[in-house]
Amino acid sequence: MSKGRTFRGGIHPIGHKELSATKAIKVMTPPAEVIIPLKQHVGACCKPLVKKGDIVNKGQKIGDADAFVSAPIHAPVSGVVKAIESCWHPAGGKVQAIVIENDNEERLDPSITPKGELDQLDADAIKTIVREAGIVGLGGATFPTHVKLAPPPDKRIQTLIINGCECEPYLTCDHRLMVEHPDRIIDGTRALLKALGISKAIIGIELNKPDAIEAMQRAAVGHAGIEIVPLKLKYPQGAERQLITAITGKEVPAGGLPMDIGIVVNNVGTAAAIQTAIQTGMPLIERIVTVSGEGVKEPQNLLVRVGSRCSDVLEAAGGFTGTPKQVIIGGPLTGTTQFDLSVPVTKCTSGILVFNQLKTAREPDPCIRCGRCVDVCPAFLVPTTIARYVDGGKLNEAVRWGLLNCIECGSCSYVCPANRFLVQSIKLGKQEVQAERHKKTS
Ligand code: SF4
Ligand code: SF4
Repeated sequence: MSKGRTFRGGIHPIGHKELSATKAIKVMTPPAEVIIPLKQHVGACCKPLVKKGDIVNKGQKIGDADAFVSAPIHAPVSGVVKAIESCWHPAGGKVQAIVIENDNEERLDPSITPKGELDQLDADAIKTIVREAGIVGLGGATFPTHVKLAPPPDKRIQTLIINGCECEPYLTCDHRLMVEHPDRIIDGTRALLKALGISKAIIGIELNKPDAIEAMQRAAVGHAGIEIVPLKLKYPQGAERQLITAITGKEVPAGGLPMDIGIVVNNVGTAAAIQTAIQTGMPLIERIVTVSGEGVKEPQNLLVRVGSRCSDVLEAAGGFTGTPKQVIIGGPLTGTTQFDLSVPVTKCTSGILVFNQLKTAREPDPCIRCGRCVDVCPAFLVPTTIARYVDGGKLNEAVRWGLLNCIECGSCSYVCPANRFLVQSIKLGKQEVQAERHKKTS
């Protein structure tokens, strides 16, 4: 096997993937009640298409928006709409959500029909299927996929990159998907290529998943133009910009997008969701979630209906080993600590991690100017300086030092010997700048 490519900067955290990497995907029994947030994607929030008391079918569209940058939502179970009310979102803050009481009939919506063979679908038909199925980036970005498939006419796309890195510790949902369903990923990749009107796709997978690399290589045989590229082990290689550099050697310009250099990136989970939407007509109503950490009795990978409560998923994984100190949704470096386990699984919930010791919130010491945060920053920033400007309220200076180019990977905080809250300050600074800009334009 080749030595693998990579990008400059980054860190090598302990993976802890052995807890769940060999556990085959199990299907979780749908819960008695699901909570479907009307916003699970980048872009405009959906408006409900149902009201309290309505009977809904599994796969029925229950929320949508007119805006181009948005993605509809669908009922993951059949049942009755119990309420439309605000709920806590796992990313923080409150959002409107549709609560459905499951009638356990699994009654399919009449709209759920196979969409035909890929060979018979043209690019526009594929884009429509992807949009109507509510497919978004399942790697965590939740950018609506149909938007990525419609670049402006002046952007000439040449290469599709499929992200199979899964570089964050503990998470193994993409790994299991590649091992168990490589053909679905290849078929989804073919659909993406057809929608983009191009013929070259590269699937990047880190070298710590040899079984996934092998399975994907086997599935790609006979599909000209689809190449599997092994990558060295490094975090945050799954971040879009770092993955592009690792695979092509090219840099996305600061403030630009991958399409500026002719590239579109999608996750392996997204490709598989597209295959499902075409083959069965089923929209994005479920996803694989890694439930792990030493605080979980039976770490595993579960196929979970969107809207299932975090507490239901934890129960399906055997519950807690002790008294949990921290529950994180997502990975330990980019995820969000939860204070209420009734939050629902959304389209971007890759993991639920439970720890009996705190992973974050250590007491900070003064900066010792060691420069480690600078060495590891994959965006070539000076995190200590940016964080200092944010903390001092000098946002313009922080922007001048590249605040908005931070990809929030947390590598700087991870290596800081003084436990400085670098990524936390930088995230806050970005939010303040974006809110300020939003105020000026609205
Ligand atoms: S400054 Fe941002 S991009 Fe750089 S290491 Fe810190 S979190 Fe990552
Ligand atoms: S790693 Fe921490 S201590 Fe070292 S320069 Fe950066 S902020 Fe300062």
